[in-house]
Amino acid sequence: MPYFDYANGCPVDERVIEAMMPYLTQEIGNPSSVHSLGLKARKALDDAREKLALLINAADGDVIFTSGATEANNLAIIGYGMRHKRRGNHVITSSIEHMSVINSCKFLQKNGFEVTYIPVDRNGVVNVDEIERSIKPETILISVQHANGEIGTIQPVEEIGEIAKEKGIAFHVDATASLGKIEVDVERMNADLITLSSNDIYGPRGVGGLFIRKGVRVQPIIVGGGQERGLRSGTENVAGIVGFGKAAEITMKEYRREAGREEKLRDEMIRRILEMEEAYLNGHPELRLPNNVNVRFSYVEGESLVLSLDMEGIYASTASACTSKTLEPSHVLIACGLKHEEAHGSLLFTLGKGNTMEDVEKLMEVLPRVVERLRMMSPLYKAKGER
Ligand code: PMP
Repeated sequence: MPYFDYANGCPVDERVIEAMMPYLTQEIGNPSSVHSLGLKARKALDDAREKLALLINAADGDVIFTSGATEANNLAIIGYGMRHKRRGNHVITSSIEHMSVINSCKFLQKNGFEVTYIPVDRNGVVNVDEIERSIKPETILISVQHANGEIGTIQPVEEIGEIAKEKGIAFHVDATASLGKIEVDVERMNADLITLSSNDIYGPRGVGGLFIRKGVRVQPIIVGGGQERGLRSGTENVAGIVGFGKAAEITMKEYRREAGREEKLRDEMIRRILEMEEAYLNGHPELRLPNNVNVRFSYVEGESLVLSLDMEGIYASTASACTSKTLEPSHVLIACGLKHEEAHGSLLFTLGKGNTMEDVEKLMEVLPRVVERLRMMSPLYKAKGER
């Protein structure tokens, strides 16, 4: 059954499960315990930290493990903001960030901050000149995602990092959607804080991390026993973190090849879908994640399309699962300038290791028929035919 919803749920790699198993069974030491089982667990955490640092070329800093990307984004933005509030109370971000970034910024706004949300163009690319123009003496943090999980657009983070560095402003990059798909290099981005997610690289769910450059101070948002250098209290999820580390090691070796393979499937899907009547691409045609296909069809609801495809054994999505619980159209598509009905007509396919050209063939057998059937039910489409 073709599964095209990898961005919302990824299977855990068998080799990752194998690496985790001992830490779910025999190796039960608490990393804070001083006995030998505790030391083994501590070493396992440090090994995983090392593997993540290698994957993102981070020689100068540490990865703090969290419960996922949402918590890492909260720690980066709220943690950095609250720690440096006296120095300045202005933050710059983009209008197409994940809700965990946007709502962290809103938290800061309720706590005396001013936040500038930089607009994006029709393809979802953030306006760098406008970032530069928005900088004021009070600006302490810029947060821009590396790539967007919904429309797949890759942002000019290296350029933004240069500007931030020059002005002495901290730079946070949410690399949740890009890690394991394209190169994530801390040094090239000049990033001070980077959000990382385990499940998106075939690791277990409920684990993530925040890279913090050496010398960059953040205030913890979870307090307690002082684990993770005092920045994230609570007994560490040792098995999960070991799995995340293993997933990082595998990703480092294999992702380029896999990205090339997925890119071919992506291009074939886009080419064939755009041959359909009134079908359009959302996001950037080139600056795009290798596994992302986001399209829209006139006179059809994305939600009905997802359900109709599901009945045919094909799994797709309307948007990021994080926001699809609300009935509002995706804020990302609206920020790209789409009308509400265009955003509602959008369909998201995210590819992964399990997809083959056969999946694409199966989709293309079904999709035109499903779109046609749904359009026949649309009064607007019928009216157009009669005109
Ligand atoms: N940032 C981005 C760019 C995302 O796409 C997502 C959703 N996968 C998140 C953050 C949040 O991830 P999670 O729900 O795993 O915390």
